Amino acid sequence: MKLLDGQIAIITGAASPRGLGKATAQLFADHGARVVILDLDAAQAEDTAADIGEGHIGLACDVTRKADCEAAVAVVLEAYGQIDILVNNAGITQPLKIMDITHEDYDAVLDVNLLGTLNMSQTVIPHMRERKTGKLINMSSVSAQRGGGIFGGPHYSAAKAGILGLTKAMARELAPDGIRSNAICPGFIATDITAGKLTPDMMDQILAGIPMGRAGEASDVAGCALFLASDLSAYVTGSELDVNGGSLIH
Ligand code: NAD
Repeated sequence: MKLLDGQIAIITGAASPRGLGKATAQLFADHGARVVILDLDAAQAEDTAADIGEGHIGLACDVTRKADCEAAVAVVLEAYGQIDILVNNAGITQPLKIMDITHEDYDAVLDVNLLGTLNMSQTVIPHMRERKTGKLINMSSVSAQRGGGIFGGPHYSAAKAGILGLTKAMARELAPDGIRSNAICPGFIATDITAGKLTPDMMDQILAGIPMGRAGEASDVAGCALFLASDLSAYVTGSELDVNGGSLIH
């Protein structure tokens, strides 16, 4: 028996080829789930769904727009009749110093990371409540816990810290409905989110701060998402799961 047999999972921001969302989608599919890839570009989302195997779907959805979230969830319910797992993974970052953050930068980063998590969660919660089961998994960051210092600016740290608060508050409020809510806090993982903006110096500095001496892989995060999505974590809610090679031992 596979860990996610018969389960339907939605993963936002999952079309990035080397990203955490796609790695999670692949692992969930390998463990028996049907996966819905949501991302900004419809064709990229569809291609990613096809890449991970048969029976998965890809849809365009900008998580900052509640109407997009509602439309996507309606399609998923029509196609599969249920939603068991939501991974709020869509995120953007900007390497800015505190005095350089404009209102526009703040809105962009807070909206995708934090409002997007709220929008998608609010859209699936009524359905999960009705079925008295569901798993919410929210992508925070070590930046929330240690005040940045890797790549993202203070507004990114704030957005990811906001996700921790939202995760825990949802865990408390939704536990009586059989819905679990947990956060993952990745450290430095090699993906395209830093989009070639890391200099060799920055890279050396980051690696020096990681006791395990290597950057994380997307699969390292996917494994933790699988744990939180499956019944292996049946009694875990409101937690923050650190995936950082020891770079924040606290
Ligand atoms: P990535 O850039 O590879 O993927 C992010 C995806 O989100 C992209 O496909 C992008 O198109 C999508 N996206 C952006 N805005 C969106 C929107 N409004 N609606 C829907 N999708 C949108 O990044 P990644 O490294 O895979 O990061 C995934 C998540 O993990 C993010 O939330 C990120 O903040 C978090 N994270 C990453 C790291 C790391 O080191 N890579 C560390 C900590 C946390």
